[in-house]
Formats: sequence, structure tokens, C-alpha cells
Amino acid sequence: MSERFTVRAGWGALLLLLLTLGCAERRVPASVRSRTLWVMGTEASVVLPGSDADRLANAADRVETVFQETESRLSRFRDTSELTAINRQAGLSPVSVSPETLHTLNLALTYARLTGGAFDPTVAPLVALWQAASTAGVPSPATVARCLSLIGYTKVQSDPVAKSVFLSHEGMQLDLGGIAKGTAVDRAAAALLAAGHDRFLIDLGGDIRCQGAPDGQPAWRVGVRDPFDKRQLLGVVRMAPSSAIVTSGNYERFIVVDGQRYGHLIDPRSGYPVRGMAGVTVMADEAGVADAMSTALFVLGMDQATALLARHPGIEAMLIPDRKPLEIWVTPGLKPRFEPSAEYQAAVRLLPI
Ligand code: AMP
Ligand code: MG
Repeated sequence: MSERFTVRAGWGALLLLLLTLGCAERRVPASVRSRTLWVMGTEASVVLPGSDADRLANAADRVETVFQETESRLSRFRDTSELTAINRQAGLSPVSVSPETLHTLNLALTYARLTGGAFDPTVAPLVALWQAASTAGVPSPATVARCLSLIGYTKVQSDPVAKSVFLSHEGMQLDLGGIAKGTAVDRAAAALLAAGHDRFLIDLGGDIRCQGAPDGQPAWRVGVRDPFDKRQLLGVVRMAPSSAIVTSGNYERFIVVDGQRYGHLIDPRSGYPVRGMAGVTVMADEAGVADAMSTALFVLGMDQATALLARHPGIEAMLIPDRKPLEIWVTPGLKPRFEPSAEYQAAVRLLPI
């Protein structure tokens, strides 16, 4: 579907589902069974332990249904989606939405507040401005400032009683591309749990949520790619029994204007594309949280990201600044779960939190 959702179609490759230690490609060993789906403009996988293989079709159908529902509600490019209705009515009237859409938006607003607006679901006009820059040229400071007046999560009114959403200014636009894949994965996981599945891994374009562990193994293992060279594996994360892992990066999607490279993540506070980070991977209990946080930490940069992580002990992260030689900064909680590949061991640093 949308560009918004396809953001990690390539970058999703950064988070590599590593089912056989040491393999550089997605390879599914006999101990697990997986089904690939094409949804929300990207590739998704549903993986079960080999001993549950007879339940794979059932699990994949349930997951696909959830992703298709999400796409029909949250696509910015479907005329009939709830998100399109909200954007169309900006400055005019509130729009009634489904509980799922309200949940995703409320989570987005919560993380917008929590990150001081580094994550902001109203960033869409700026995203469009910078996407146009590849043909129209770099916008003038005055144009950026005009666009900034349309940005601001505090201008979104979410009414829990009327179950409606209102963008208070004409020209405002919601973009849930930084969180929607995560919340979709959480809903898919809830659907599987409700159907009695207790061991699975769901991967939606790099937003990964897992439950339990594969046959005879202590944990699901997810590989993280080198953001500077995605053929290389930085290492493997041994996942907690019910957890999620999501990556944000700038290296797969960017525009070049006058020889200058601009990433697809925008700092909603300044109006300019973010610089400073190469990759951020976040592990949390929920994929929606990990998705919003990975985007936010990327925008915040090393210092502010470190300060935010110090205040939120449930969120584990790997921060890779955009400089050489490569440094892999990990939170104390992630360190024992991260097995760096031999050639990256010396690059690992502990975040001072
Ligand atoms: P992710 O890959 O999860 O980091 O999300 C990237 C997508 O989020 C982009 O393609 C934009 O649609 C959107 N986005 C860009 N900058 C921000 C931001 N500062 N806050 C929230 N969403 C953003
Ligand atoms: Mg995100």
C-alpha cells in the first residue's frame, strides 16, 4: 500500500529473522515452518515451531486478516480509509473511527508527549515537503516555517467518549507510518494468542513480535544488520519470551538534492530531515511501542536518546551513530541478549544509563 508502510521493505532487511545461526539470508530450517504474506505494501512472515506445523495455515490466515483490516483503516492512499477521512476533515469536523484506529492514534500521541514531539504523527506535511525536494529543490527556511505551523500533536483532538478524531487546523495531515506496522503486529499477536497459539514469531517488514521459543531452543533469535553494509550481520538478539523488536534507519530511504543526502525521518521540532544516526533498534514488550520509540530515538540523536532511555527502563535499545569507525551502543538490559558477530565485538559499547 503506502510508501508510509513500505518504509522498511528494504530496511526491514536490517532486521533479519535469524533462524539458523550464521546464515546471511533468510533461511528456514526444518525446526520451524513459515508462511510469507504480501500485505501493507511489504513482506510479512508468520513462523511457528516445526511441531506446530499443522497449525500454520490457521495462524497465517488470522494474521493476514488483521493486516488487511489495518491496511483498510490506516492507509493514507486508500480513499475509503479512516485515516483519509480524518485528513479530509482537517479543520472541518471530527470523524468517528474504529477502536483499533483510536488505539493506534492514542499510542502515537502518548509517545509524542513522552518524546517531547520527536515522534509526531502530524509530521505528514513535512514528509511531503521533503519528498518533493528531490524535484523541487531544498525548501527555503520560510517554506519550512510555514509547513511547521501545520505540525503538532497537541493540535490533534482524540475523543475517547465519542470515539472520534479531529485535526484542528485545515491542512493538517496524520501519518501513522512510524507506528502502524507495530500496532498491527501487536493485534496479530493478540489474535494468535486468543486462538490458542503460544509459540510464534510475526514479522511485518521488519517489525517483529515473538512469543515463546522454537522447538528445543531457549529463545527466538533475530539478526540485526549493519546499517552501513546490510549484507553484514552486526549480531543476533536472543528475544525475551514475549517481546518485540523494531528498527529505524536512514540508509535505505533517502533523497539526494544538490549532492546532499536527506533521510526520510524528519525532526518535527525543526522541520528538517534528521542527521546523526545510522540505525536504531528497539526491543520492548509491544511492537507498537518499539516502533514509535525506534523512530523517536533516531530523531533525538545519541545524547537525547540516551537521556530518554535512562528514564524508561522497560525499553531496550541499540543506537548506531552515523560516523566511522562504527559504534554499537547498547542498553544494559540488551547487552546480555545481544551476541555480536566476531568482527563487530570490539565495536560494542555500553550506554551510560
Ligand atoms: P519508521 O521506519 O518506523 O521509523 O517510520 C518511518 C515513517 O514515519 C516515515 O516514512 C514517515 O512516514 C514517518 N515519520 C517520519 N518522521 C517522523 C517523526 N518524526 N515522527 C513520526 N513519524 C515520522
Ligand atoms: Mg517506527
